[in-house]
Amino acid sequence: MSERPAPAVRIRPEVAATPAYRQGSAPVKPGFKLSSNENPFPPLPGVLDAVAERARSTNRYAAAAMPELRAAIADDFGVDPASVHLAAGSVAILYQLVHAVAGAGDEYVHAWPSFEAYPGLGLASGARAVAVPLAAGARHDLEAMADAVTERTRAILVCSPNNPTGPAVRRAEFDRFMERVPADVLVVFDEAYAEFVTDADAVRGADVLPRNPNLVVLRTFSKAYGLAQLRIGFGVGDPALLTAAASVSIPLSVTGVAEAAALASLRPEARAVLEGQIAELVVRRDRLVAALRESGLAIPDAEGNFLWVPEGPRDQGGVPSAQGLAEAFAEAGTLVRPFAGHGVRISVGEDESLAEVVRVVRMHLAG
Ligand SMILES: *Cc1c(COP(=O)(O)O)cnc(C)c1O
Repeated sequence: MSERPAPAVRIRPEVAATPAYRQGSAPVKPGFKLSSNENPFPPLPGVLDAVAERARSTNRYAAAAMPELRAAIADDFGVDPASVHLAAGSVAILYQLVHAVAGAGDEYVHAWPSFEAYPGLGLASGARAVAVPLAAGARHDLEAMADAVTERTRAILVCSPNNPTGPAVRRAEFDRFMERVPADVLVVFDEAYAEFVTDADAVRGADVLPRNPNLVVLRTFSKAYGLAQLRIGFGVGDPALLTAAASVSIPLSVTGVAEAAALASLRPEARAVLEGQIAELVVRRDRLVAALRESGLAIPDAEGNFLWVPEGPRDQGGVPSAQGLAEAFAEAGTLVRPFAGHGVRISVGEDESLAEVVRVVRMHLAG
């Protein structure tokens, strides 16, 4: 290998300038991994059996249309199966949709800080990401996002609850926003954490789909359902939009094993257990938020399975350095996700992790 000359292949400069995805690392010491918003519970009942059964035919390609799963999802949303599109994670659908609508010179708008994948989605198509800072309370500034629309704007990504900061978009502000967005601009409502939302005023993607033909709602089996490693998510919206997404997708990316796991997760016995897990995680989340607020931190409303510690002046409820707090956690053996200059995202994990999170934060604030 060392004898081989460097490749002379010309990589597109914008690609060469972009770092590849870096995953939250594994804990160095035995501790808690609270850096990727994963579900801490074991797989739902029936899932492992379904996976094992489907794995007996790994030599065969899966049937790409996956009608049974799409029908089950369509049923939940009260739509036709043609309005459901599956992919290897909802991140894949984000890529597909941005590629389907925004080419070189076009723009798409997203909030920031928000999901880390958003800024890079237009790289391969040449579309430009326009980041709109969050408003007070670490919420989406939907007015400013609508203001950011130009004649080059092809898509707007709305993340609710917002990863990494936590608040969900509310119905009234969303309705006003949709009225302002031109009908030919795609709005993607990324609801990866919908299952954890308890804010009664939060928008539910399923409720606003019928009156907004330019809207696609994204959901995933990776978070609440605990299937992160199997890579399966879905989009719900007008078939014309989903067909466009499918046209730019890599065929056969969704595995039959993932399909089987998702189907098993939607069975009534599994759903009952899931409801219990979600309720438990919501209780843990709210306890953790209360404890950290008691320590003087301005934790924004947490509607997902994670919470946000903002970077900022101490007397305004911030920590001086996101990186500093993340390092304090790493030294204690717990992984959290710092966003340099913005804050730290901490996932709600095992019951025993709660006391540890509070301990590390209090020690850090005292030191
Ligand atoms: C985790 C996450 C996703 C999707 O993840 P997949 O595993 O690709 O389904 C999408 N959007 C947001 C905001 C997320 O946090």
